[in-house]
Amino acid sequence: MSTDDLLRRLEQLRAHDLPTHGGRTLAYVYDSGLADADELGKHALAMYASTNGLDPTAFPSLLAMEKELVAFARPLFHGTADTVGTVTSGGTESILLAVQTARDAHPVAAPVMIVPTTIHAAFAKAAHYFGVERVAVDVDPVTRRADPVAMAAAMDTYGERVVLVAASAPSYAHGVVDPIEAIAAETSARGLRLHVDACIGGWVLPWAERLGHDVAPWDFRVPGVTSLSADLHKYAYTPKGVSLLLHATPGLRRPQFFASADWPGYTMLNATMQSTKSGGPLAAAWAVVHLIGDDGYLDLVRTTLDGTAALASGIAEQQHVRLVTRPDASLVTLETDGSCDVFTISDEMLARGWFVQPQMSFRDMPASLHLTVSAATAPAVPEFLTALAESVDAAVAAGPVAVDEGLREAAASIDPAALDDDAFDGLLALAGLGSGTGEVGVPTQMAPVNALLDVAPPALREALLIAFLDRLSR
Ligand SMILES: *Cc1c(COP(=O)(O)O)cnc(C)c1O
Repeated sequence: MSTDDLLRRLEQLRAHDLPTHGGRTLAYVYDSGLADADELGKHALAMYASTNGLDPTAFPSLLAMEKELVAFARPLFHGTADTVGTVTSGGTESILLAVQTARDAHPVAAPVMIVPTTIHAAFAKAAHYFGVERVAVDVDPVTRRADPVAMAAAMDTYGERVVLVAASAPSYAHGVVDPIEAIAAETSARGLRLHVDACIGGWVLPWAERLGHDVAPWDFRVPGVTSLSADLHKYAYTPKGVSLLLHATPGLRRPQFFASADWPGYTMLNATMQSTKSGGPLAAAWAVVHLIGDDGYLDLVRTTLDGTAALASGIAEQQHVRLVTRPDASLVTLETDGSCDVFTISDEMLARGWFVQPQMSFRDMPASLHLTVSAATAPAVPEFLTALAESVDAAVAAGPVAVDEGLREAAASIDPAALDDDAFDGLLALAGLGSGTGEVGVPTQMAPVNALLDVAPPALREALLIAFLDRLSR
C-alpha cells in the first residue's frame, strides 16, 4: 500500500473513534482548545518518537526534560528541595510504582494497603500485580469523602502489615477531595507512607486555590504526605503517555529503582516499569507545559471551573437528575431520581454527539454519570444542558431499563469461578454482547447491556467483561 492509501486508512479508522477535540467527550480525553499547544505537542512527539528513555546517559535530553518537568511541578505541590520525581507513562504506572515502592520499602509477609472505596481502580491493579492486599474502607455516604476515623481503625487492625495508605485529590468517581490532613495525621502518628492520588486534580487544584476556590490542603504542605501522582496527559493537556510520580525524599523513592546485572547483556537500570520507552510523550509534555506555562494554566483552570460551576448549577435545576455531590474540582457526577436510568441518558447523549461516562452502582451508591469538564467543554455548557434535558426527557419516556427478575436472581447467585467458556458465551449472549458462539461485538445501544451488568455483583461483572475482551481481541 502507498503512503496515501495508508494515511487514508488511518483516517477512516479514526472516524469511528470518539472525538478527541471539541469538548463534547466528557471522559478519556482533555481538550485545552489551544491549537498552538496541540500543534507543538504533536511536533515534539514526532521529533522524539525514536529516542529511548532506557538509558539516560545515552539520551541526556530526556533526563534534562524530566528534571525540568519535576522542577515545574515541585513548587506547585509545595515540595521541598528534597522532593524527587519520575515521569511515567500514565496515572496507572505512577500508582503501580508507588505501591511497589511502598511494598519493597517495608518487607512483610502479607502486605496491606488501606484505601477508601473510592480510590481509583489502578490501586486494585497494583494490589493484583504486586501481591498487596487492598483493604477498602467505606467513605462518608453523603459527602463521598474518605472517612479518616474508619481508615485509622483499619490501620490499627492490620498493624505491622500496612505498607501504604492512599487517598484522592479528587476522586475520579465523585470529584471530591479526601480529607488529606486528617488522614495524614493518622499515618504520621504510625510512621506509615501516605500516597495522594492527584492524577486528575494535580494540574487543577494549585490554580483553583490561587483563583480563590476553597481547596483543602492535599499536597506536600501536609506533613505526612510521602508521595503523590499527577497526570500530565489529563489537565496539563499534553499528548497521552505522561504522568508524574513525586516522592518527598530520595530515600522514600529508592526502592522504585530496579537494576539487574545478572545476565550477560547490558546492566538493566530503570526508574519505571517500561525499559525501552519512547521519549516522544516526555518531550511533548515538556514542550506543552512550558508553552502554556503558569499563567496559561491559570486561565485554563479559571475557564474550566467556571464551566464546571455552570454545568453543576444547570444540572441542579433540571428535573429527574441531581448532583451526587458538590464538585470540589472539575468533575461532576449525577444520578437520577429513579424515573429513568443513567444508562439510557448516556445513550441518548451519545446520539446527540456528547459522550458521558456511565458508572455502575456500587454498594449503597446508585449508578451515576461521570462528566470530566475540560477547558474546551466550558463554552459549550449551555448546549450540553439542552442535550441533557432532551436526553432525560427521552429516558423518562422510555422508563428505567427493565431487567428480567429471573436474570437478576441468576446474576446474584452465579459463581464466576465455576463458569467455563461455553457458559461465558451463553452469558455474553444473554447480556447482549455476543451471539452465543464466541462471536462478540460492541452493541449500538449500551443501555440494556449496562443495566444488566449493573445488577451483576462486581466479581461477575469483571468476569463477564474479561470474557468479552478476550473474545473481542481474538
Ligand atoms: C486517570 C486516573 C488514574 C489512572 O490514570 P491513567 O492515566 O488512566 O492510567 C488514577 N487515578 C485517578 C484519580 C485518575 O483520574
